[in-house]
Formats: sequence, structure tokens, C-alpha cells
Amino acid sequence: TAKHTGKNKHVAYNSLNKLTSVNHIQMETELRQAILENELILYYQPRLELSTGNIICLEALVRWNHPRLGLIAPNDFIPLAEECGLILPLGEWVLREACLQKVRWLEAGILNYQIAVNISPCQFQDEHFSDKAIHIIEKTGIDPSYLEFEITESSIMQNMETTVAVLDKLCKIGISISIDDFGIGYSSLNYLKHFPIHCLKIDRSFVKNIHSNKDDLAITNAIIHLGHALNVQVVAEGVEELSQLAILKETTCTTIQGYLLSPPVSVFDIEQSFNQYNRPVMIS
Ligand code: C2E
Ligand code: MG
Ligand code: MG
Ligand code: MG
Repeated sequence: TAKHTGKNKHVAYNSLNKLTSVNHIQMETELRQAILENELILYYQPRLELSTGNIICLEALVRWNHPRLGLIAPNDFIPLAEECGLILPLGEWVLREACLQKVRWLEAGILNYQIAVNISPCQFQDEHFSDKAIHIIEKTGIDPSYLEFEITESSIMQNMETTVAVLDKLCKIGISISIDDFGIGYSSLNYLKHFPIHCLKIDRSFVKNIHSNKDDLAITNAIIHLGHALNVQVVAEGVEELSQLAILKETTCTTIQGYLLSPPVSVFDIEQSFNQYNRPVMIS
């Protein structure tokens, strides 16, 4: 199944930090090259709605297919990209590719789900961010209501006034906004009432020990109820075990993402495993 092949691949490249041997200057040069030469690829991880058992969204997650080192995980190059400014062209590449892929799936009549794209705080703070995003949306011809931007609390807290303006602009054209890694930032909850937010993604550090740690369960519960009260979707990230899923159902969590359903997988694998005729069976 997709779960197993995908998981093995994931472990294979994630277990070693291949880039520690390469110095930063060389890596920066190579990453700059990688963006131009199409060495980046997007994997997709499904988000499942518990009440229906339907996939409702695919999160695009970038990987670097390095000519010598093989597949490199984002945590091993996104921080560098953020440091040296390459995150801007990289982020644009990701958004363009995700939009083009969505258009291809629409044309093929398959995988009719939302697409979620991660936006780095550096991108979000770029004053041209919304204009660049809108330009890419127009060029690729995607209906923006298929798009969700995942931002973090740190993106939001930098400059509240510009954040409101940017989020309003994106919302007005139909883009949904989710808060990624919710609960681990240093932010106040105040922003939730000012910003047009559609979804809270509970950080997987809370979900991890939900079946054994009372505090993690209490926090997860609180986020889920906060979400219900604010009328936003709540996604539990990092669901790996059926025991976690059982508890999340009890806590009235609406949607999940995690290895239990599928790790992030290639376009080929996602097309094989998650087209409309191929619904996940282990969840119900
Ligand atoms: P994220 O956005 O919070 O994405 C979820 C990460 O958790 C992914 O790691 C995913 O593979 C992993 N994950 C999903 N389910 C499970 C699970 O059940 N157990 C465990 N242990 N992990 C799970 P990945 O793909 O390595 O990405 C790591 C981070 O890199 C992402 O965290 C995101 O912050 C960043 N990232 C990935 N792609 C992009 C991108 O295109 N742009 C930007 N700016 N950041 C990206
Ligand atoms: Mg994310
Ligand atoms: Mg996350
Ligand atoms: Mg994240």
C-alpha cells in the first residue's frame, strides 16, 4: 500500500542529515541551482474528514532531489533557504508547482481536493507576497478557492496590521488560511478574533502522546473546542496509531493527517492510492 512504500522512503532519507557534510556556501549555490533546474519536487499528504471518511485536502510538501545526495527533507534545507533569502524563489516555485498540479488533476478529473501550501514566515513578511501569489494564481489559471495557505503563529505575530491586510486580501479572492503547528508558538490567542482563519492544525507534539499523557490530551481537547467555538476546522497532525485516532474521535476532532492514513507521497503514489474510487478503508 501507499502507506508502507511511502513510509519506507520517508525513513530512508530522513534518518540521516545528509547535508551536514556539505558546507553552507556550497549548499546555497546548489540550492540556487536546484530551483532553476527543477530538482525540487512536491510530495502530497492527504487530510481526512472523520465524519465522512473523505479526503478533503492534500498538503504539498517540498523535497529536494539532489543529484548526488538523493531525496533531502525540507527541514534540512528550508532553514538555509530562509537564511540566505532563497526561500522567496523557492516558495514561489512551490506555489506555482502546486497550482499547476491542481490544474492538471482538475483537467484529468481526479483528486478533487483542496491543496494546502506551506508559507514560510519570511515569505509572508515579504511586502510583495500577496501580489506574487495572486500573479501565480492568475498565470496558472487555478481557482483560488482550491487553495489553502498554511502559516504559523510567528508569521502572524510580526506585524498585526500588515497581517490583517494581507490575510483579508487573500481571503477576498477565496484562499483559505490555516494555522500550522498550532499551540507551540508564543502568540496570544487574541489574533484569532481579528483574522479570517479557516483551520487550526494541532501540532503533532500534542497528538503524539495523547493516549498516555493527560496534559497533551487536555491541550488537544481545548484546541478542538476552541476550533468548534470559533467555527473553524481543526486538524490533528501526526496521527500514527489507531489508539490516537480513537481518542481524537471521542474529542470530536473533525479532521486528521498522519502516517496512519498516509505519509507524504509522490504524485504517482497519490494518484494510485487516493483517487475518488479508492477510499481509505482503515479509518471507519
Ligand atoms: P509541516 O507543515 O507541519 O508538515 C508536516 C510534517 O510532518 C511533514 O514533514 C510530514 O511528513 C510530517 N508528518 C506527517 N504525518 C506525520 C506523522 O504521522 N508522524 C510524524 N512523525 N511526522 C508526520 P516534512 O514533509 O518533512 O516537512 C517538515 C516541515 O518542513 C513542514 O512541517 C513545513 O514546516 C516545512 N515545509 C515542507 N514543505 C514546505 C514548503 O513547500 N514551504 C515551506 N515554507 N515549508 C515547507
Ligand atoms: Mg504544514
Ligand atoms: Mg505542522
Ligand atoms: Mg511547520
